[in-house]
Amino acid sequence: MVTQDKMQEFVAWAKRRGVIFASSEIYGGLSNSYDYGSIGVEMKNKLRAHWWRTMVQSRDDIVGLDSAIILNPKVWEAAGHTENFTDPLVEDLVTHKRYRADHLEDPTKSPDGNPVGEVKNFNLMFKTSIGPVEEDASVAYLRPETCQGIFINFKQVFETSRQKIPFGIAQVGKSFRNEITPGNFTFRTREFEQMEMEFFVRPDEADKWFEFWVNERLNWYINLGIKKENLKLVKHPKSALAHYSKGTTDIEYKYPWGWGELEGIANRGDFDLTQHQKHSGKDMSVFDETTKEKFIPWVIEPAAGLDRALLVLLLDAWQDFKNGRSGNADKSADPNDLEVMLSVDQRIAAYDAAVLPLIKKEPLQKFAKELVDKLRADGKNVFYDESGSIGRRYRRQDEIGTPVCYTVDFETIEDGQHKGTVTARDRDSMEQKRVTLT
Ligand code: ATP
Repeated sequence: MVTQDKMQEFVAWAKRRGVIFASSEIYGGLSNSYDYGSIGVEMKNKLRAHWWRTMVQSRDDIVGLDSAIILNPKVWEAAGHTENFTDPLVEDLVTHKRYRADHLEDPTKSPDGNPVGEVKNFNLMFKTSIGPVEEDASVAYLRPETCQGIFINFKQVFETSRQKIPFGIAQVGKSFRNEITPGNFTFRTREFEQMEMEFFVRPDEADKWFEFWVNERLNWYINLGIKKENLKLVKHPKSALAHYSKGTTDIEYKYPWGWGELEGIANRGDFDLTQHQKHSGKDMSVFDETTKEKFIPWVIEPAAGLDRALLVLLLDAWQDFKNGRSGNADKSADPNDLEVMLSVDQRIAAYDAAVLPLIKKEPLQKFAKELVDKLRADGKNVFYDESGSIGRRYRRQDEIGTPVCYTVDFETIEDGQHKGTVTARDRDSMEQKRVTLT
């Protein structure tokens, strides 16, 4: 786990190993903007796919959607965002740096100790314009959340997916918020990916489904190996609820800088569908066959951040060993070197396995490449590595969380023939076993 004093080393590791690095670096970077490297993109893709599998493909009552990022600006009028999607902004009267008023320890002073001006509401939506002429009529916004794309398509999906209430619509995609104070690595950025699911229910069943989704979502993180003691549920007080919410519970994680939100589960009532009905003039109600009533469904929304969830998985799984892990120390390395091990869930690890010929010689290389082909044909993402000492190669894989290494060694061969066995070396226990992979 990463503690506050290890944060710098963690960020350096993420860059060194191709997980996450500062964006636009060759131009001096762009503040709080990050790119995912060869390892990071694999992990991010796997985490997104895992969410999709649990939330959509493993259930009969949830379907997916992929809506546009730029929607008709009337959507944001109706949803209340043009007016309410704001954060309270204050300015340091001396340095002119800007802060979120609700994040200040003392509401009258900036973190530099200077007085601050009056609180203003700052709208977080990124404005853009559609078409070649910039004029008021062409103003549009980059979506600050993915869920409005779901609400405006609710009837369309309901009518084409053969679902009945209760059922859900899920969507994953980029959202944009012009955050006043982004920071803490990828915890809060201006461009990020959300994984949201809107579950449409009868109003009298909203509380039941709210409890259900809070537990489901908490267990999703525990099942992915996040330590239980680093997670907690926090209910928002009524006074702090967002304009659309009838109740919100956050799943919080114990970040190196303190507890903070990982995912929010909200009971949005019938706010969004009612607003869209009012503003678009289109009927958003459904007919209940049993009660013979028409009603506007209520919505329970688990809203997660993909970047933030990946950050939590990395922070929780990252371990460092000052003088090497026992039995795994690389003799040629500086003994003061930090040795890193990423004990991330194997479903999220960038590579499912690494295949290593013990030495760079035939027929070990040939057999190793055959094994790579076989594993790839089985749908595995495999890394082949033949350079460097075997200890160093194991260590490289430990650093990026590869759960198992298959070593093609001399025991694999008999009279120049493949005996069908390799050494399987486990990341966490470092145990080596002979296994048959045919
Ligand atoms: P906060 O109050 O911290 O600004 P929020 O309550 O507005 O966040 P939601 O609108 O509930 O956040 O968004 C749902 C999820 O999307 C969050 O739990 C988080 O995982 C993710 N998320 C929101 N804003 C950002 C951001 N700026 N950067 C990265 N992830 C974000």
